[in-house]
Amino acid sequence: MEHTSKVIHGIGVSPGIAIGKAYLLERGRIPVPHSVLLGEEAVAQECKRFEDSVSRAVSDLESIRQSIHPDYKDHFHVLEVHQMILKDRLLYDETLRLIREENLNAQWALMRSLAKAREIFGALDDEYIQSRVADVDAAAERVLRVLSGQERNTFENIRERVIIVAHDLSPADAAQLQIEKTLGLVIEMGGRTSHTSIIARSLNIPAVVAAEHATRWVPMGDILIVDGTTGKIIINPSEEEISTYYERQQELENYLKEINRKAHLPARTRDGHLVKVEANIEMIEEVVAAKDHGAEGIGLYRTEFFFMNRTDFPDEETLFKEYRDLAELMAPQWVTMRSLDLGAEKLATWYPRIEEANPALGLRSIRLCLHYRDLFKTQLRAILRASRDTANIRLMFPLVSGVGELLEAKQVLNEVREELTLHRIPFDESMPLGVMIEVPSAVAVADMLAREVDFFSIGTNDLIQYSIGIDRANEHVAYLFEPLHPAVLRFIGQTVEAGHKAGIQVALCGEMAGESLYVPIMLGLKLDSLSMNPQSVPRVKNLISRSSLKECRRLVSKALKLTTAGEIQQLLERTMIKDFPEEFRVFNPNSLTVEEFTVLTKRRTRNRKRNRP
Ligand code: PEP
Ligand code: MG
Repeated sequence: MEHTSKVIHGIGVSPGIAIGKAYLLERGRIPVPHSVLLGEEAVAQECKRFEDSVSRAVSDLESIRQSIHPDYKDHFHVLEVHQMILKDRLLYDETLRLIREENLNAQWALMRSLAKAREIFGALDDEYIQSRVADVDAAAERVLRVLSGQERNTFENIRERVIIVAHDLSPADAAQLQIEKTLGLVIEMGGRTSHTSIIARSLNIPAVVAAEHATRWVPMGDILIVDGTTGKIIINPSEEEISTYYERQQELENYLKEINRKAHLPARTRDGHLVKVEANIEMIEEVVAAKDHGAEGIGLYRTEFFFMNRTDFPDEETLFKEYRDLAELMAPQWVTMRSLDLGAEKLATWYPRIEEANPALGLRSIRLCLHYRDLFKTQLRAILRASRDTANIRLMFPLVSGVGELLEAKQVLNEVREELTLHRIPFDESMPLGVMIEVPSAVAVADMLAREVDFFSIGTNDLIQYSIGIDRANEHVAYLFEPLHPAVLRFIGQTVEAGHKAGIQVALCGEMAGESLYVPIMLGLKLDSLSMNPQSVPRVKNLISRSSLKECRRLVSKALKLTTAGEIQQLLERTMIKDFPEEFRVFNPNSLTVEEFTVLTKRRTRNRKRNRP
């Protein structure tokens, strides 16, 4: 009989290849009986049964929380949120009321109060709160399982090394992941920055998210191949596919082992030019990965992640301790802390949301901080205080649009410094200050901004969005999200030039910093440092040390004469195949020779012209 395998695609969010048996994290329906209670005694008993079940669910969550390795504890604030939801009026009191007043059995009463909670959340027209409905569901499901005596088909039943396939992984689920038994992850939900993706990357587990209908297509126990780089999943692969991927897995592992050995050396080009390679982190736990992969500092700490998934604003002391720990862990290397970059897609519950037609153009980032000054000051105070002992913290403001806004933010910083001085609270008086260059207006006045700060860091994720005028998260215009758009490259070049003229260093910390294809162009644009996800550090360092600045400069001159991102991409791919064939082959499964590549790119150009939307 002919072998049939099936291929589905998602987004590869944690590189590597997993080959193994699928374990479906079942979310089987829990039966919800409906009955009416007769007599006061039955009602009292049912109330007690419900209260006991909630206590049991809360204590289960507590034991999960306790069992989490201390290094990962901060990933799981949401467990506390689930514990709180269970005791919240909306679910707890309402369910008890329904049992008492309408004589309903506990499961049915809980379903009714859950429906009401969903309705209330749904009517709020607040994306963040609506996304919290999943937490309410997950918390309620836990109680329902206790009430029905049905424990979940979960991680405890896993007896061998498997690839976990699930619709979604709640933080509670992720907390129970047994690393040694988890070969890979396939998740139907999520994106590059979802919780699961961040955890998978920091645990080095190959993972694919946004794999639509994976739980429908993948039968329990079937063999899977998961490619965490390309996002490809092969269900029930042929012998031939398995051996091809084993070879790739081996090749990838050998390649990474080889470059990891050199990851702790400085990244110096063949002609002696030194480039700093740093890591982007969202949580303090990622410091381990950053150090292991040879990062020479933290080039971007996205501080806002510590503020999300929380029910209230963390106080100054909590922030101070977090920042001081981070600074101590990294000392003597730099930690570049970005002040809160909340708003747009990064939301938190504890500040009053303002209705906006265009959140990406609205009250986000530094604008939000200048609006809620107390919050801003609290964070700045914590950062300054944490800088005292190790003096290795640098601060930068995100999304600054011009000098006026920068001066306003600097004014707030000065007020905080004065307050601390007045109260004799010590801090690093020479803490360097920088701005992120993320909007075209900042590029246009980069020379003026440069006079006011100690460094620049270019945030290309936003710079691309705002210069091309496309929503970075909108799949309909994703084809226009072009890091190699000539305008973007010019903007980067102009920023570097303005910075260097003023004698300050210029870094790049958008996603493109970690893409090996772009390394020669970023070198040629004379960036002083690149900051990226920790896993990319060894690859980028390796490519830098094998490049020549002079040749990269020539490449940039050539690239800047080309008129489209497509042509520049082809130029870079040709360079890559010629100069770094192993890197290209290992990360491009269908690796090509230069001749094959030339044929393919011609065909691609033709198709692109034909398929323009
Ligand atoms: C950027 O915009 O490039 C950046 C680094 O910041 P974020 O992705 O957090 O907006
Ligand atoms: Mg940004």
